[in-house]
Amino acid sequence: MSTSNDSKSCRVAVIGAGLVGTLNAIYFAQRGWNVDLFELRKDMRLPEVKATQRGKSINLALSERGLSALRNSGLDLDKLILEAAVPLHARMVHTTAGHQMSQAYGKKDQHINAVDRARLNEELLTIAEEFSNINIHFEHNLMKADLDKGELQFFTGTGNPEKTYHADLLVGADGAYSRSRTQLMRRIRMNYEQEYIDTAYCELTMLPIKNENGEDEFALDPHHLHIWPRHTFMLIALPNPDKTFTCTLFMPFGMFDELNTKELVLDFFKREFKDSVPLIGEEKLLEEYFNNPRGSLISIKCKPYHYQDKAVIIGDAAHAMVPFYGQGMNCGFQDVQVLHSILDKHGVKDKLSADGKIHGLHQAMEEYSKERSEDAHAICDLAMYNHYEMRSAVTSPLYLARKKLEAVLHSMFPTAVIPLYTMVSFTTIRYSDAIKRWNRQTWWINATATASAVTALGIGACLGLRYGRPLIDAMSKYLPRS
Ligand code: FAD
Repeated sequence: MSTSNDSKSCRVAVIGAGLVGTLNAIYFAQRGWNVDLFELRKDMRLPEVKATQRGKSINLALSERGLSALRNSGLDLDKLILEAAVPLHARMVHTTAGHQMSQAYGKKDQHINAVDRARLNEELLTIAEEFSNINIHFEHNLMKADLDKGELQFFTGTGNPEKTYHADLLVGADGAYSRSRTQLMRRIRMNYEQEYIDTAYCELTMLPIKNENGEDEFALDPHHLHIWPRHTFMLIALPNPDKTFTCTLFMPFGMFDELNTKELVLDFFKREFKDSVPLIGEEKLLEEYFNNPRGSLISIKCKPYHYQDKAVIIGDAAHAMVPFYGQGMNCGFQDVQVLHSILDKHGVKDKLSADGKIHGLHQAMEEYSKERSEDAHAICDLAMYNHYEMRSAVTSPLYLARKKLEAVLHSMFPTAVIPLYTMVSFTTIRYSDAIKRWNRQTWWINATATASAVTALGIGACLGLRYGRPLIDAMSKYLPRS
């Protein structure tokens, strides 16, 4: 693949070979930069690592923002990833009584995609490796960075000595607990806020069932994201290409602590998610509930994201969010696309200028930081809101009526009224613009609904005055007399 390896080429150090860092390495390599991609862990593709490693979540929902960034790489990465994805057209809400209710995400042709996290990361690493101007350094743990000198210090492997590398630009994509961010904080006045929500998650597996021909079949409809919303807690299930479902139980930490015997757990599941129990299987459910790790959920907002033309953070390192809008990775992938379109806009090339600087980079970093932090803060807030929507609102008749009304208005006025979920998941409209539009739309819908109600009441009152007396007289003969 395309390369540029001479000493005058710009050199970027990408910290973190997770989803976002690896895609970003590919984008930089395509700009002709020399790329060092550093990863704390061993290569996840090694068989011994595959057997033991358990990431954040087994599968993820990939939607338009992520797909657009994969597509824009020019390598048909979107097609490659979608080859092994399961399209999800709707939510399936499971009631306590065991009834199921399908709620479409958008129009008939719109869907999100369930993808395998490990496969996605592995495919990106394999593609990155094909570029001769990308060097991947596994088992390199960033310890310290002197951003002014572009000097980065790593611990390498167990018991191995420290190593120092140099780069013109550091891009921190090292996740929510980012050390790149900490290094940046030492150099700039970064505003930072984080919030842990009182919800833990635990993943459970729903194996395939056998159909009448003895073949494996999905245990539930595979084209839905299944939810068992129970207000303070919920179970969700996303399909995998191997016909299993990964179920995730989101529940307050205290409830996990209280459900501490086999009997209590089974009673709880049979009461709250009764149709899931035979599908997961009692034995497997208990085994996984007690042995699988419990994850915590954090939301992080910070600003700015950059230091001059020396360093920038992207992905979860810049904006971790709770997973309820399915946007963390999508937003991180979009970071990469936005970053590179801003680099293009400022004419950032692959060669250092005579003064050893990179022309346009500082301005590009400022613009990126300003634009993207506004959008990332918006999606962090929406993700928090969707926690409430998924575990509670989806069962409310008022919520459902409103969704229907929005869908009808969207089909009548497709550009004037766009449901929020559609803007977030099926377009690349800036998150902050999506919120602004949604607020405006909501105001108009409420105003129209109120005006219609007042008009209807007015008409009702007029008709009552005009025809009410004769009508009552006519009916009175049928009314019982005392
Ligand atoms: P990470 O995936 O955290 O990768 C960071 C990488 O940096 C890791 O490989 C790590 O080993 C490495 N690293 C860390 N420190 C160092 C260091 N000091 N030196 C070198 N390397 C380092 N998002 C969606 O879009 N859709 C979903 O459906 C979805 N579901 C989710 C479900 C759950 C339960 C959770 C927890 C998250 C979900 N997300 C989802 C969010 C998504 O997982 C993250 O947004 C995404 O993984 C962020 O990618 P990243 O590359 O920025 O960070």
